[in-house]
Amino acid sequence: MSEAGDAPSADAAPPRRREEGSRPPRSRDRDRDRSRGRDRDRGGRGGRPAFESTYEDNFEDFGEAPPPKPRAARTEKTYTGGFSTMGLSQLSMDALADAGYEEPSPIQAGLIPRALAGVDVLGQARTGTGKTASFVLPILEKIDPHHAHAPPQAIVLVPTRELAVQVKDEFEKLASGRKASILAVYGGKPIRQQVERLKRGVDVVVGTPGRVLDHLARGTLQLHALKLVVLDEADRMLDIGFRPDIEKILRQCPADRQTLLLSATVPPPVEKLARRYMREPETMNFSPTDVSADTIEQFYFTVDADKKFDLLLQLIQRENPTQSIIFCRTKRGTEKIHNHLQKKVEGSACIHGDLSQSVRDRVMAAFRDGRVKHLVATDVVGRGIDVSGISHIINYDVPAFCDDYVHRVGRTGRMGREGVAYTFVTPEEGGELTRIEIRIDKLLQRDEIAGFESTTARGRDDMEAAKAAAQAASTKYITSDVGAEPEGDGPKQPPKKKYRRAL
Ligand code: AMP
Repeated sequence: MSEAGDAPSADAAPPRRREEGSRPPRSRDRDRDRSRGRDRDRGGRGGRPAFESTYEDNFEDFGEAPPPKPRAARTEKTYTGGFSTMGLSQLSMDALADAGYEEPSPIQAGLIPRALAGVDVLGQARTGTGKTASFVLPILEKIDPHHAHAPPQAIVLVPTRELAVQVKDEFEKLASGRKASILAVYGGKPIRQQVERLKRGVDVVVGTPGRVLDHLARGTLQLHALKLVVLDEADRMLDIGFRPDIEKILRQCPADRQTLLLSATVPPPVEKLARRYMREPETMNFSPTDVSADTIEQFYFTVDADKKFDLLLQLIQRENPTQSIIFCRTKRGTEKIHNHLQKKVEGSACIHGDLSQSVRDRVMAAFRDGRVKHLVATDVVGRGIDVSGISHIINYDVPAFCDDYVHRVGRTGRMGREGVAYTFVTPEEGGELTRIEIRIDKLLQRDEIAGFESTTARGRDDMEAAKAAAQAASTKYITSDVGAEPEGDGPKQPPKKKYRRAL
């Protein structure tokens, strides 16, 4: 089954070596402070039984969830930052104050006023930019108070179950003080409960296309009262193969609805979807060409494949991440690394698409409240994760696609916070590293830990051969994988000398 919801279906810059034993640069102290702070919040390291994660059957054993944090007392006057000029109601301003959102992010500043004005918007934005609130707030402003047994007035289509839950949570956070009822519908959960909720009436449905279609086929969901439709992470939904499902759903929506489409990239299929199903959409681009260059430091290690796990342990020890996601390419690899890791460090868990939904939900809940510190994940499941405490991304395996690198690294450095990403690269993977660097238009810095330098020495000839291979591979990528290129007028040509061609 697919991991994604219910889917149907040499001129390198000189390596910046770190002096052995020297302190790593930047704000790791801050990370550690944050980490200590978190421990304090939870009663200190000794304040609860040591976290012991064993695999699947022990996933229950994440310890007690911490009691909900008391709601911050509202100040006399709610925040009046940039949000106050957007035409939002007092209810929304109060909810924003409670959520601690003081200033709108760029996408919020751009999209909210246009959405409130009733305009269709195609917003290009990655996760971590505050895109969710930019459609949640206008929806909450536009729906009427809940009527019993009423059909939904807004629907949000998302690619994965995890994202469905996150979007629903954002709705609930920003709907505090309103009567709005929000329901997430996605596969892997018994449908009966969802049917019951739909019968009672919900205002907003957030769902994966497959499960939404399922409800439509059963007649348990009606779309005739929709005022707003949101396609969130549209590029991802199309990648997964949801296009036919999305079109079937859109054809059943009222013609006079408002449509908002959010997508990290706008390749031709997304454009086509927008042309066909949106009314004169305004396009707004909030996707920086660079991967959060200001807030995410990116390093690579050259390491032989058989030393990767030991390097991981050393890196965790050196960095002491507040929270990390360790990305692997395969589900089996994810389990294997987690099984080894849990014997060595506290607070490890893993998540991938073959785990039951209830296990995935438990793992995510434990990761969100900090009981899980190191989450080993596959790309599809990992890319939807939005947890603000993630300080480190560790690419245990080089991602299969350059865009996956962008999505992985984007799990940290959320909303301007600092983050760091490390990528383990075997000597054979130099070309793949080059392609990533071309994709993000930035050189990763080399890092080293004593004892883990690659033992595969490369002669001059080998080096030249690798350079040529990487060059050829880059060119192939550039010409054959244009759909994965995020923006630009045509296929981007790799800068000739800037990138490393081999390790
Ligand atoms: P998103 O890009 O929607 O996944 O949001 C990323 C994270 O930023 C989420 O945890 C949001 O709760 C948070 N967030 C969204 N808007 C704001 C804001 N204006 N100020 C502070 N945090 C925000």
